[in-house]
Amino acid sequence: MSSKRMQAYHDVLHRTPKHTELNQKVSELFGENVFHSEVMREYLPGEAYKKMKEVARSGARLDRNVADQVASAMKDWALTKGATHYTHWFQPLTGATAEKHDAFFKPIGPGKAIEQFDGDLLVQQEPDASSFPNGGIRNTFEARGYTAWDPSSPAFVIGKTLCIPTIFISYTGEALDYKMPLLKALHAVDEAAVGVCQYFDKNVKKVSATLGWEQEYFLVDKAYYNSRLDLQMSGRTLFGHASAKGQQLDDHYFGSISERATAFMRDFETESIRLGIPVTTRHNEVAPNQFECAPMFEECNLANDHNLLLMDLMEKIARKHDFRVLLHEKPFAGVNGSGKHNNWSLGTDTGVNLLAPGKNPKSNLQFLTFFINTIKAIHDHSGLLRACIAGAGNDHRLGANEAPPAIISVFIGSQLSAMLDKIESDVKAGKMTPEQKTELKLNIGKIPQILLDNTDRNRTSPFAFTGNKFEFRAVGSSANCAAAMIVINTIMANQLKEFKKDVDARIKKGEGKDEAILKQLQVLIKESKKIRFEGNGYGDEWVKEAEKRGLANLRDTPRALTVWHDKKVVNLFNDMKVLTPRELEARQEIEFESYIYKLQIEARVIGEMAIGSIMPAVVDYQNKLIKNIQGLFDVLGEKMGKEAAEAQIDLLKRISIHLNTMKDACDNMLAARKKANKIEDMEKKAVAYCDEVKVYFDEIRYHADKLEGLVEDETWPLPKFSEMLFTR
Ligand code: ADP
Ligand code: MG
Repeated sequence: MSSKRMQAYHDVLHRTPKHTELNQKVSELFGENVFHSEVMREYLPGEAYKKMKEVARSGARLDRNVADQVASAMKDWALTKGATHYTHWFQPLTGATAEKHDAFFKPIGPGKAIEQFDGDLLVQQEPDASSFPNGGIRNTFEARGYTAWDPSSPAFVIGKTLCIPTIFISYTGEALDYKMPLLKALHAVDEAAVGVCQYFDKNVKKVSATLGWEQEYFLVDKAYYNSRLDLQMSGRTLFGHASAKGQQLDDHYFGSISERATAFMRDFETESIRLGIPVTTRHNEVAPNQFECAPMFEECNLANDHNLLLMDLMEKIARKHDFRVLLHEKPFAGVNGSGKHNNWSLGTDTGVNLLAPGKNPKSNLQFLTFFINTIKAIHDHSGLLRACIAGAGNDHRLGANEAPPAIISVFIGSQLSAMLDKIESDVKAGKMTPEQKTELKLNIGKIPQILLDNTDRNRTSPFAFTGNKFEFRAVGSSANCAAAMIVINTIMANQLKEFKKDVDARIKKGEGKDEAILKQLQVLIKESKKIRFEGNGYGDEWVKEAEKRGLANLRDTPRALTVWHDKKVVNLFNDMKVLTPRELEARQEIEFESYIYKLQIEARVIGEMAIGSIMPAVVDYQNKLIKNIQGLFDVLGEKMGKEAAEAQIDLLKRISIHLNTMKDACDNMLAARKKANKIEDMEKKAVAYCDEVKVYFDEIRYHADKLEGLVEDETWPLPKFSEMLFTR
C-alpha cells in the first residue's frame, strides 16, 4: 500500500468514539445561546421590547434610540455567554455563510477599556466585500457592500462570537445575497395569501410560509479525506471503482448507527439545540455512511438560517470527531447522492395550516383553494423550479435514476386526483342549482376522511403533496434552501394574486362567493392538468410521456439556467418586487460562473490525479510485472517463459491499453478546456464546459477505475470506496 493510504488505514483502525458527557437534559438547553424574545423581554425596557417585537413582526424600520437599547441589551446578554466579538452573519451568493468579526473591546485611555456595541454597529456594517460574487453589479473599485440587520431572525452566540443575521446589499441597494430576496418573497406571499384568506376568514392578518428541511450528508474519516485530493478540492470523489458491496443489500437504511457516528451526531445536535434549532430526527440513509438530520419545521426565513447554521456546525463538529462531512450532492458514484427535501406550507396567524384539510366544507374549500393554486403555480413556472435547484453537483442526481427526475411534475395521490377530477366535471357552467352546490360541498367535506387512508406515497416525484404540505425533493444537499424558497413563494404570491383578481371579477358579475371560487378552481385544474403525474418518475416511459405532454426535461445546469432571462420570469420577479431585472441578470451570471468554476476545478484535479498519482502507481506495477516476465524468460528460456508468463503478459497488455487511453483522454480534455476558456460569454462557456469538457470526466474515470481493478491493491495510491464507505 502507498505510504499515505497505509497511514490513513491505520489511523482509522485506531479511532474510538468521542463521547461528550452531558449532565443536563437537552430540553433545558434549548435556545440557551439565542437572543430570543424571552431574553429580550428580560434585558430590554418594556417600551423598547414592545417596539422591537413589532419591528420583528412587520419588518418596519427600527428607530435609532431603540436600536441603541437593543444593541446594549444584546451585548450585555452576549457577555454573560462569554462572547468577546460580534459579527454580521450573512449569506453571499457563494452558497456558504460569511462573517467578519469585530471585538466589543474598545480602549478608551492608558490601561483603560470598555466593551462597546451600539445601535449603529448593530443595524448596519460595511464589510469590504469586493470579493464576494456579485455578477457585475459591484465593480471592485466600488468595494462597498452593506450588511443590514434582519430583526426577524434572532441573534445568537457561537463560541465567543455574537452573530447577527443580516442581509447583504450593494452600495446601490441591490441584493447580493439570498436573504434579502427571500424576505421580499415571503412578504409577497404573505400579502397575496392574506388577500385570498379573506374569502374564508376575515380575522387572518398574516400568512407565513413554513419550511421543514431534511438534510442528507455523508461522513468520511478525515484520514481518507486528507489522502484524496478530489474530496478536498471538489467535495466528491472523481475516481474510484464501486466497492463489491454498496447499497444493494439495503442494510444501511434506518439501520443502527455506528457508535462513532452517533457520538458525532449527539454533539452537533446538542449544539444545534443550544442555538434554538429544533432537531428531532436522525437516521441512516440508503447509502453506506450516509445520514439524515431533520428538525421540526419553522417559519421559512428562520428555518433557512437554521439550515445554514446547522451545515456550518456539522462541518466544525465533524472535525472534532475526526470525520469530514460531505454535503456534496454526489460524493460517490454508484451509491445514492444527497438531497435536502424542502417541506413547504403556508400558515395563518390564526393557527391554520392552509395546506391541511379542515374539519368542515368551508375550511376544506380553503384548503382546496391553496392546494390547487400551488399546483397551478408549479405548472406555470416549472422551468423556474428546475432552474432554482440547478448546479454542477445536483446534475449528478437529477435524472440520474435515483433522486427526483429533472422533469418537474406534481404528485398528489389518487384520492385527491379523484377529487380534482370531480370538481372538474361537476362544476357546471352557468348558474349551478342548489342541489348541485350541496352535492359538491358534501364531497369536499369528505376530504379529511379520504386523506386519512391516503397511503399511496410516491417517492419518485420531485414535488409531492404529503398530507399537509408539499415536499420539494429536488433541492441539492449543499444548496441554500432560500434559492428554492424564493421561487416557490414568489410564484405562489403571483398565482394567488391572479386568483383573487379572477374570483373578484366573477363576484362582480353576480356569482356567489363559493361558486366563483369553485368555478375559478375548475379553470385552474383544467389548465394545470399536465403537470400532475402519479406514476414512476424514474421510468423511461415517463420521459416519453412528459415529452408528449410538452414538459421540459432539462438534464444539465447550463440548459436549466437559461430560464432566468425569459421575459415571463423577469416580469414575474419584478412585479412581485422580489428581484429587479438587474439583480436577476446578476444572479444568472453568478450561477453560470459558479458552474464553470466547479467544472474547471474538477477538470484540473482529474488531470492532476490521473497523471500525478494514478499513472506513476500503474507504471510501478507494470515494472514489477515486466521484471517478473523477464525473470521467467531468463530462467526458462523464451518458449517456456512465454507460456509461464501468460497471465502476467495479458495483464500487462490490458493495463497498458487502459493507461494509454486514460492519458489520451486527459490530453483531449486539456485541449477542450483551453478552447472553452477562450469563450467570453458566460452562458456559451458553461455550455462548452458541459458538452465539450465534462464528457472526458467519465471516460478518464472509466479507465482509471478499470486500472484500480487490475493493479495490485498494495500499489494503489488512493483510499478505495470499500475503505471510505465502510469505516465504522
Ligand atoms: P415524513 O415525510 O418523513 O413521513 P413528516 O410527514 O412528519 O415525515 O414530515 C417531514 C418533514 O415535514 C419534517 O421535517 C417536518 O418538520 C416537515 N413539516 C411538517 N409539517 C410541515 C408544515 N406545515 N410546513 C413545513 N414543513 C412541515
Ligand atoms: Mg421527506
